[in-house]
Amino acid sequence: MSQPNLVESPFGIARDVLKVIEGHETSDGAGVSLTRYIASPELDMFDPFLLLDAFRSDDPDDYIAGFPPHPHRGFETVTYLLEGNMRHKDSTGHEGLIRSGGVQWMTAGSGIEHSEMPEQEKGLLYGFQLWVNLPAAQKMTAPRYQEFEPEEIPVEKRADGSEVKVIAGTTIAGTSGAVTDIAAAPLYLDITIAGDSHFHEVIPQGHSAFIYVIKGPLYIHGEHKTTVVPTDAMALLDSGERLEVSSDEIGRFLLISGRPFNEPVARYGPFVMNTEEEIQQAFIDYRAGHFGQIAE
Ligand code: FE
Repeated sequence: MSQPNLVESPFGIARDVLKVIEGHETSDGAGVSLTRYIASPELDMFDPFLLLDAFRSDDPDDYIAGFPPHPHRGFETVTYLLEGNMRHKDSTGHEGLIRSGGVQWMTAGSGIEHSEMPEQEKGLLYGFQLWVNLPAAQKMTAPRYQEFEPEEIPVEKRADGSEVKVIAGTTIAGTSGAVTDIAAAPLYLDITIAGDSHFHEVIPQGHSAFIYVIKGPLYIHGEHKTTVVPTDAMALLDSGERLEVSSDEIGRFLLISGRPFNEPVARYGPFVMNTEEEIQQAFIDYRAGHFGQIAE
């Protein structure tokens, strides 16, 4: 019996595309138009990722209503803005502005109430919100913020002409991201590649990984096939050790990966726990005012 030679490059097995997801138009908050990729009819979750939204509009009616006060418990929310400004305010007294190119990694943990409102009345608002699960042992941890201005996020320039903005994780070239100490050991990279070159990145084996195409089409060169992924689509990656990507012209995408927790998930709206009882408790605690209130 001969096995196919799976290791043909020094970097190991190239991940194939498992599924391309086009997203689902919906609205959330007080009426923000967005496209939902994870937590959608196409994909319930992708352990440890619970939700992925993209919002992009230059029509204020699509975003101005924002996300007025609402709670979270049991996971982390990651807001990354390509264009526009969002103001964040929470019940622990934390307040901040996420600017174009900036990121906020919020560990909601035991619970916060917060609002996320656009700080602009016109112009383009373009960004992403990703929900990352916490393992059972950390669901009730104290809330924590990691917030970075665009200029605080390391950018790696490579010989192949690519540029890698390292939000979280460590790249093959050894650049470590701004966000650290996250349970899912995530990689969160914003990658711009030159046309006519092949980009490689290592993804830890056994971690769930996907790309989101900001500017495509991109070609994902897996071990068994090449898959074309268009702009605004997300592609789930199969198992393997690395990603190989090319494009005809300048391309841009997010590469995100994380360690799956393989724990039971009970979720209801803004609460993500392990059991139904814990969800009930979250409602009880929130109604009793244990999450605190946003100061006006
Ligand atoms: Fe929120």
